[in-house]
Amino acid sequence: MKTIIYLIFSLQLLLCDFVFAEKLQMTINASRAVDLTQPLYEGMPYWPGTEPISIERLADYDQGYRMHKFTMWENIGTHVDSPSHFAAGEGKRTIDQLPLDQLIAPMVVINVQKKVKTNADYQLTVEDIKNWETDNGKIKKGALVVMNTGWYLKFSDPHAYINQNDKGELHFPGFSVAVAKLLVERDVAGIGIDTLSLDPGNDLSFPVHNVMLAANKYQIENMNNLDALPATGAVVVIGVLPVRDGSQAQARVFALLK
Ligand SMILES: [Zn+2]
Repeated sequence: MKTIIYLIFSLQLLLCDFVFAEKLQMTINASRAVDLTQPLYEGMPYWPGTEPISIERLADYDQGYRMHKFTMWENIGTHVDSPSHFAAGEGKRTIDQLPLDQLIAPMVVINVQKKVKTNADYQLTVEDIKNWETDNGKIKKGALVVMNTGWYLKFSDPHAYINQNDKGELHFPGFSVAVAKLLVERDVAGIGIDTLSLDPGNDLSFPVHNVMLAANKYQIENMNNLDALPATGAVVVIGVLPVRDGSQAQARVFALLK
């Protein structure tokens, strides 16, 4: 009897604990996976004015096991911005409230590396989006739209990646407000980039953050390995840490490819 009660109790616990993605819009057929995550390590780039990650060894094998403590801001490394990062009020999702069916999404990858080579302040244009759509079809509702600027290749050189001049100004590419508004119209799940911010470094009023997050979309910053992705056809899986009431959090992000 005790065992049966225990079993029923455990089953109920299990059912309560699972959160299901109710309506995945796709059948996933994949043979390869690509990691889109930057590793976390002391010495990695971080947003100017915040603090670097610190990783402390608390125990080692001579004590029987190894154990570390790491301390980091929620915006370091490959991480997700939730709507609550900028948008206040009811219904604006915190990082733990992002729905699973939006964290598994078809990817749209827009490569602007050529343009960024001659202009570090390059902003993605509506024309870039239209050209992508001419080649690949209209961006679908629920997609993750990623800008491949090639900046991720500089990640191991924080000075080049942050690209801050003597006056304190930052220079790296980003989305434009016009594109953000168009993508809200397309009802995408979110946007992503391989730099420190979705907004170009030289615009600290964060207009793209304001538009996307107010529309309850999420954002991914500091993505890695974007050259491994096709323009269309990949599916992203975003394993973001469900920190209760968090505004942003680190994530293991990877793509599934056919
Ligand atoms: Zn962020």
